[in-house]
Amino acid sequence: MTVLAKALAAHIRATGPMSLADYMATCLMDPRHGYYATRDPFGAAGDFITAPEISQMFGELLGLCLAQAWLDQGAPAPFTLAELGPGRGTLMADLLRATRAVPGFHAALRLYLVETSPALRKVQAATLGRGDVTWCDRVEDLPEAPIFLIANEFFDALPIRQFQRDQSGWRERVVGLAGARLTLGLGPETALPDLAHRLEDTRAGDIVETCAPGTAIAGQIGARIATHGGTALIIDYGDWRSLGDTFQAVAAHAPTDPFTTPGAADLTAHVDFEALARAASPAAHTRLTPQGVFLERIGLGTRTEALARGLSGAALDSHLAAYRRLTAGEEMGTLFKVLGLYRAGTPTPPGLET
Ligand code: SAH
Repeated sequence: MTVLAKALAAHIRATGPMSLADYMATCLMDPRHGYYATRDPFGAAGDFITAPEISQMFGELLGLCLAQAWLDQGAPAPFTLAELGPGRGTLMADLLRATRAVPGFHAALRLYLVETSPALRKVQAATLGRGDVTWCDRVEDLPEAPIFLIANEFFDALPIRQFQRDQSGWRERVVGLAGARLTLGLGPETALPDLAHRLEDTRAGDIVETCAPGTAIAGQIGARIATHGGTALIIDYGDWRSLGDTFQAVAAHAPTDPFTTPGAADLTAHVDFEALARAASPAAHTRLTPQGVFLERIGLGTRTEALARGLSGAALDSHLAAYRRLTAGEEMGTLFKVLGLYRAGTPTPPGLET
């Protein structure tokens, strides 16, 4: 049993079952025993690999996409270049290198990283240098200025709540105890005005998920974009509308039970992109686009060929495997989606045109 499992069981015994959101937040962010607070989970030796860790091309192309959006909106200067949950800082390092050739971009950018984990802030500082980086705990702390922002596999880490449809209302799925074991149960039936529109497309027994921190953050970003201009690229697994239980745990690259090793496994849920797009209004949003389609449209094929020319043997094989992994339908190509937020009345960000 992990230290957190004991602490959570004691808490539930004292105060009753807890929401999935409180459970997830404690497991991921507890300052002493939380998953992100205590380790660097990325890469082959960690628990999972993200797109920027698979290939430098991911961050390079996202950077050029964002720089084009900046040019399309009149190259505002200065502007906020922001990343939410930058992990190891790999994506940002690749983005900065690729955009060096874009006239004026580097001179105008002010770099902000939104990251709560002290352990990962250290890794990011080692990758990017401390010089021109400002770290923030919250999106609210970002300046009131034009903003060009990236969030890859960030929203899936935010705490969700789950509700099970009853005949006429909803019962929350909560974490309780069966003996000493953490287990899921159902709370009392409640009317939830925020889920009224989901009574139309669900039946008794269906589960829907909400992510209040995610919609609050999308609201903050949308308000800045609508007021000052800018673009946000949100990449994650999920769909246009959440339906069903997508709460999942991964440790050492394999799925595991989310309730047996709290704090030692990564916990995530699929992203409900419709909820983010709604919350970001009056910023405009693009069509939700599969990652593979988006990357092909912004030049991944050409970039793959260009880099392949300098490679041979095992290095070439792994470069081509990375290309497949990012784009193939059975890999990340269709599970992962891209949503763009941008200032209404300006050109749609590249690769997300319809
Ligand atoms: N974008 C990176 C890492 C994704 S993992 C990549 O693609 O490799 C999720 C990241 O979000 C981690 O850096 C984690 O510490 C951070 N994070 C999770 N919840 C957060 C929150 N509420 N506020 C800020 N950062 C958070």
